[in-house]
Amino acid sequence: MKIGILGAGQLARMLALAGHPLGLETVCFTELAMVPAACCAKLVVGRFDDQSALQHFAQQVDVITFENENIDVNVVEFLSGYCPVYPTSAALALTQDRLLEKQLLQQLEIPVGRCCAIHSLAELEKNSAAFNHDAILKTRRFGYDGKGQWRIRSLDDLAKIKSADLQEPLILEEFIPFDEEVSMIAVRSLQGQIKFYPLTKNVHHQGILKISVAPANSPLENLARDYMARLLTHFNYVGVLAIEFFCKGEQLLANEIAPRVHNSGHWTQNGAVTSQFENHMRAMAQLPLGETTLLAKTAMFNCIGSEPLMTDVLQIPYTHYHHYGKEARALRKLAHINLTYQDDQQFERGYQQLIDLLA
Ligand code: ATP
Ligand code: MG
Repeated sequence: MKIGILGAGQLARMLALAGHPLGLETVCFTELAMVPAACCAKLVVGRFDDQSALQHFAQQVDVITFENENIDVNVVEFLSGYCPVYPTSAALALTQDRLLEKQLLQQLEIPVGRCCAIHSLAELEKNSAAFNHDAILKTRRFGYDGKGQWRIRSLDDLAKIKSADLQEPLILEEFIPFDEEVSMIAVRSLQGQIKFYPLTKNVHHQGILKISVAPANSPLENLARDYMARLLTHFNYVGVLAIEFFCKGEQLLANEIAPRVHNSGHWTQNGAVTSQFENHMRAMAQLPLGETTLLAKTAMFNCIGSEPLMTDVLQIPYTHYHHYGKEARALRKLAHINLTYQDDQQFERGYQQLIDLLA
């Protein structure tokens, strides 16, 4: 069976690698030939606005998925004429616009922080004041790793926002002074079977995920599962879905949804019975889903902007290195390291050594 993936970055690479033992071949549609998935997937190089290239791609696969939600919905609809695309264009359209996403969450009675659409400076001033000038202005579309965001801490910060920035569709969110951030990742099959991974605790630095630790051991786990099930059922979803949450006291506020395998689920490669990548591929191929049970507590560290020496990492017991084959560039995710738990001493020491290596 051949699985088509739109995009050929590290997520596509890890999906393709997870497909190999199952005999699943991967074909990635990509605008560039030098991409992380090139080592383990066939590539169709073309532009996303070239219908004949897209058709050529669709005709050689049995099902199509994507690694990134910033894809033109029209492309997905066009491809759906040739073979099934999962998740569907409906899930894609909603999750690529922060405002529509928040509105859907509210409709499903999943709590979110206060937010509103912004179209002008006057609207920004008024609504920022309503949030005591403690807010984040975000582009509604195409944001990732904290890009397209302006933190507002005082009235003065509004002056930093240029009129050109205000031409884009924007959303203003109140700043949530959260206790911690967690994410729920789950997978759903075409037949409606759902499997949840343990809730994961996430640490971000300057808007980019730095460390994830699973399990989060949070009393909010069942609530997160309940919210996840609502979304999966609403979309009649097929594949892996991630929800990022802010925890504040007893409250669980949804921050955003990602209709794909997620960085905060990379720990599952070494810490869960079946990784998120394998389960997404199983869902695409209509194979039975694998167990999502924890094998061992695991911490995942992102290598951002530069990579440590692999030998320095691998001499730390119970580490696993996942290299993406990307050129180093500031703020770019280049690899991640998983550290699994055997005992308290080993885990704490390994954790600290990795913090020091990546500092
Ligand atoms: P990613 O692609 O890494 O998920 P993103 O660009 O989509 O990031 P968000 O998830 O919206 O951006 O924000 C990145 C991080 O910034 C959050 O994980 C959180 O740490 C912080 N953040 C975003 N919005 C808020 C908010 N309203 N209140 C407090 N912190 C926030
Ligand atoms: Mg996020």
